[in-house]
Amino acid sequence: MAEHYDVIIIGTGAGGGTLAHALAGSGKRILLLERGGFLPREIGNWAPETVFVDGKYISKDTWYDSDGKPFQPQSHYFVGGATKMYGAALYRLRPEDFGELRHVDGISPAWPLSYDDFEPWYSQAEQLYQVHGNDGEDPTEGHRSQPYPWPAVSHEPRIQEISDGLAKGGYHPFHAACGIMLNEADQPNSACIRCAWCDGYPCLVHAKSDAEVIAVRPLLGRDNVTLVTGAEVTKLETDAAGRAVTGVVVSRDGEREVYTGDIVAVCASAANSAKLLLNSANDQHPNGLANGSDQVGRNYMFHNSKAIVALSKERNDTVYQKTLAINDFYFASSDYQWPMGGIQMMGKSNAEAMRGEKPKLTMLSPEWTLTDVAKHAVDFWLTTEDLPLPENRVTTDADGNVHLSYTTYTNQAEADRLYGELKKILNHTGMAEHHVLSKNFYADMAMSIAAVAHQAGTCRFGTDPATSVLDVNCKAHELDNLYVVDTSFFPSIGAVNPALTAMANALRVGEHITGRLTT
Ligand SMILES: Cc1cc2nc3c(=O)[nH]c(=O)nc-3n(C[C@H](O)[C@H](O)[C@H](O)COP(=O)(O)OP(=O)(O)OC[C@H]3O[C@@H](n4cnc5c(N)ncnc54)[C@H](O)[C@@H]3O)c2cc1C
Repeated sequence: MAEHYDVIIIGTGAGGGTLAHALAGSGKRILLLERGGFLPREIGNWAPETVFVDGKYISKDTWYDSDGKPFQPQSHYFVGGATKMYGAALYRLRPEDFGELRHVDGISPAWPLSYDDFEPWYSQAEQLYQVHGNDGEDPTEGHRSQPYPWPAVSHEPRIQEISDGLAKGGYHPFHAACGIMLNEADQPNSACIRCAWCDGYPCLVHAKSDAEVIAVRPLLGRDNVTLVTGAEVTKLETDAAGRAVTGVVVSRDGEREVYTGDIVAVCASAANSAKLLLNSANDQHPNGLANGSDQVGRNYMFHNSKAIVALSKERNDTVYQKTLAINDFYFASSDYQWPMGGIQMMGKSNAEAMRGEKPKLTMLSPEWTLTDVAKHAVDFWLTTEDLPLPENRVTTDADGNVHLSYTTYTNQAEADRLYGELKKILNHTGMAEHHVLSKNFYADMAMSIAAVAHQAGTCRFGTDPATSVLDVNCKAHELDNLYVVDTSFFPSIGAVNPALTAMANALRVGEHITGRLTT
């Protein structure tokens, strides 16, 4: 039996890493249990072949779909979690996202807290994760109590042209919110060289604001924080009444270890947090821990997203491409009665990544064709909200394996319309006049369920224990010392990238837990 801690945090990503950062200053004894290790810093971090073709940093997990067919989820188990690979586009949800929103396929439910409740935590998270942006450029953005800590990352010439063309066409392009530590802006610890290896790659020089670099590493010298890597939590044990977690069971180097703490925070990502609770069923919680409502694992969301490559005759020599976004179609309008979502840039495509992501389609393409395509490509990422449906869910089998059953896709009409709007707006960017092919060519890739990057839901928070797993402080309704602090708590996902909301929430819950431990 290992020593006793004040707080045990399971997982070190956007939720867990940030929660540890929030709690460390309290002086309380904190244990971080992380199933992965530190992502190695090696030249392969920036090699498309290593990242996309070999998939070196993707976990070896096998999950099963609704037909029981195995697939490899694109999960990343390292200190820092998925943020090691993320594009660091750090957006706030829109104020309206916290209320009820009507979509073509149903209702996006209201959160139990409002944008105003979250706003101070968003500001703190932006400071912590060193977000670059320009206040007031995006008409859909909510009010902010603090400006972005760093000015927006400037566009490179081709992206500036696109932005100018959009503005001329009456749209409202804005500078994307980026969490990078940029050399030219004189940020502390800045090492970013604005390379092409950011979105989807680990940062070799640790200049991306990920949870390892920003939240976890700075804690490693502290006497009150312990990090154990290679520690996969397999089960949570409770007292006889089922009201408190009394043991955190870990598999490490093939050995079983049990850790104890006054408070336990599960931050293993939406699917894995649900997996852990479901696999921790016992006599008091026969359907899984904290699952009297039967909501654990349900309402899985991952965005209705598309990656689009638009080609034009003009070369696109942009290196760091993720600087532009447009939210003109985020909400319903007089032209279309439903919200469509957001458009942003992706990291610049390259031949090797195209091969890795579309192996069948590109198998017969000679290298020069793909290289040429990549030189002219402008890459967009389209995000439409998907709705939380009870049938889209994570369950586990007798061996504890994840079954991800995502059977009902939602808001496809909105996603298609957004794609149509993208094609229209490209006419304002000079692409229509200068296309290389007989017509603009768009390679689009809808996301399969293996694309778990934006996973959320599964343990939603709310005020009613019959319809939610967590209370407004992200404590399980049914247990006194169990919290879930990752993207699981989202009752709806909006149409912006989820990480900043997970980080802001972790800071919020961190203050609550600190208060609980110190009074
Ligand atoms: C390629 C890619 C690009 C992305 N780009 C963006 C972006 O630009 N902007 C944005 O907002 N979001 C982006 N995301 C999504 C973002 O990274 C996630 O939303 C965010 O990291 C989720 O935080 P989390 O705490 O829920 O999970 P994670 O950050 O994944 O953390 C979960 C942690 O728990 C650990 N863990 C899991 N199971 C166990 C266990 N049983 N025992 C111990 N530890 C465990 C994992 O190893 C991991 O460290 C991207 C993701 C990917 C993969």
